[in-house]
Amino acid sequence: MRKLLISADMEGCGAVASQHALTPDRWEWAVARKWMTAEVVAVAEAAFASGYGEVLVADSHGNAHNIEPDGLPDNVRLVRSWPRPFYTMQGIEDPEVEACALVGYHAGSMSAGGHLAHSFSGAALREVRLNGQSCSEGYLSAACAGAFGRPIILVSGDAATIEEAGRFAPDAVGFVSKQSLGWRSQSSLPPRQVCRDLREAADRALKLRDPRPLRVEAPFKLELEMTSTVAAELLSYLPNVERLNTYTVAATLDRIEAVMRFISFVILYSPNGSIAL
Ligand SMILES: [Zn+2]
Repeated sequence: MRKLLISADMEGCGAVASQHALTPDRWEWAVARKWMTAEVVAVAEAAFASGYGEVLVADSHGNAHNIEPDGLPDNVRLVRSWPRPFYTMQGIEDPEVEACALVGYHAGSMSAGGHLAHSFSGAALREVRLNGQSCSEGYLSAACAGAFGRPIILVSGDAATIEEAGRFAPDAVGFVSKQSLGWRSQSSLPPRQVCRDLREAADRALKLRDPRPLRVEAPFKLELEMTSTVAAELLSYLPNVERLNTYTVAATLDRIEAVMRFISFVILYSPNGSIAL
């Protein structure tokens, strides 16, 4: 059965404007999760219309409990909560997955103009590099898909996200869901219109001929510039983790799964196993 994997974030969804929409304790999250769900549904419906039999959706924002299961059509398998070994790309290990879409994504931490731009956790990480390349969430997701020989065919987010996607998914259809006015302001069309336009973009993406996967060669040198010097110090206690400078640690990993696990660990670890997201 042909399957499409959608990795879904929230910052890049139309109408999402600030942190007030991003976590369950904020006043706009309850509606923002509906916008996110609707964007995922728009892409899933395009996939079914073009012959895919199942859509895997990796809810990859915040606590990964954002997308509303009751709002999904049949044959959408929803991946929820953390931790999970393939992190934002859980499902890529399914050999029936043919292609991937990144929905609601945002630019990486080094983007000056990107709306809500950060890499993985703005609180924990200032910058991430993979084999010397600046590594946003989109870049890592594309590298993970590429390690399985799978292409990214669609990326949605603000213009900075789509520009960045030119580096990691040059064949993908880029859909600009909103206009960034700054780190915490944006303008966008009504969510239902965004979804209609996104559906059209997905239809085009699903017709791409031979989109190329991103190839990042192993071994993977992962560099993490932490926001906390103590976090960098503690990470350097781990075997095979090298401290490059006050804030930066590096690890060389042989498989992409190890990269996904390592970043998951850095973001999610707490001594009592509680996940604070
Ligand atoms: Zn997010």
